[in-house]
Amino acid sequence: NDPILTVENLHVSFHSQNRVVNAVRGVSFQLEKGETLAIVGESGSGKSVTAKSVLRLLPSQTAKITDGAIRYGKENVLSYSPRQLQRLRGKEISMVFQDPMTSLNPTMKIGRQIMEGLARHEKLTRAEAKQKAVQMLEMVGIPQAAERIDAYPHQFSGGMRQRVVIALALACRPKVLIADEPTTALDVTIQAQILDLMRDLQQKTGTAIILITHDLGVVAHMAQRVAVMYTGEIVEIGPVREIFANPQHPYTKGLLASMPRLDADRSEPLVPIPGSPPDATRLAGGCSFAPRCPYVMKVCHHFSPEVTSLAPDHQVSCWLQDKRAENVRSALRF
Ligand code: SF4
Ligand code: MG
Repeated sequence: NDPILTVENLHVSFHSQNRVVNAVRGVSFQLEKGETLAIVGESGSGKSVTAKSVLRLLPSQTAKITDGAIRYGKENVLSYSPRQLQRLRGKEISMVFQDPMTSLNPTMKIGRQIMEGLARHEKLTRAEAKQKAVQMLEMVGIPQAAERIDAYPHQFSGGMRQRVVIALALACRPKVLIADEPTTALDVTIQAQILDLMRDLQQKTGTAIILITHDLGVVAHMAQRVAVMYTGEIVEIGPVREIFANPQHPYTKGLLASMPRLDADRSEPLVPIPGSPPDATRLAGGCSFAPRCPYVMKVCHHFSPEVTSLAPDHQVSCWLQDKRAENVRSALRF
């Protein structure tokens, strides 16, 4: 059972006049066919940069992928020609952003936008494309789709616009959908509707989803597996059930502890993780969570922990789990 997408040791840095920010530092994960993998972390943790790297959507002036591989099936996306990339985008992997207007043309009727998306990858007559566009809008729950097809994006509400974007993203039946905070801009009721829609469509189409979010409630609702990112690294990855019940990385523990719970006593205050992520331009050696970590040890300040497998599908990077800890400590008399 080969994964559909594999990211291996991805490194991405951003360059401006005299600043280099290492936004993604050695990220590796696999995406299985039909699953939902959530990537969770604070803003600036490298979630979106990782996602955009997969489709090579980073600004070419400032961003550089400096190491690693991104495999779609057996091919390395990093060696794709512009033409291969064009085929990849939309047809094989498509993306939904937080702001639907990122994907929509404000001056074009939505039906035409979907038809043009279809025409880019499929040979269809005009009538067929139109029929398919109506079907897609029906599938995402746009009422009176046959008439609404002639409306412009501004004639839809925020939630309805995001439905249109999802129709657009799924029109060519991609194998992978990358959704970057798709519901963050929407109010809670609409948010739940859009998430449920994505789940229903996934069951119908078998599309694998990478869902980027800072919201652990969304993770619990949507994903089978979760990768927790901190300052450009995945610090823990595993099944959602396992990680929610038994988080191993101190940062994951902190995130879960600060998550509002429906069953919690409302008089209990939330426990935020003290401190803020370090400036990514000045990351020294050692664990990048050390300045905020309640379990920090001497070794953490000097050396980076290695990825440790706690189970075949559960990995963590932390000296508390690192098998070299005893040796390192005794050798350095920490
Ligand atoms: Fe905390 Fe050390 Fe683990 Fe980093 S390696 S998370 S500082 S215990
Ligand atoms: Mg982001």
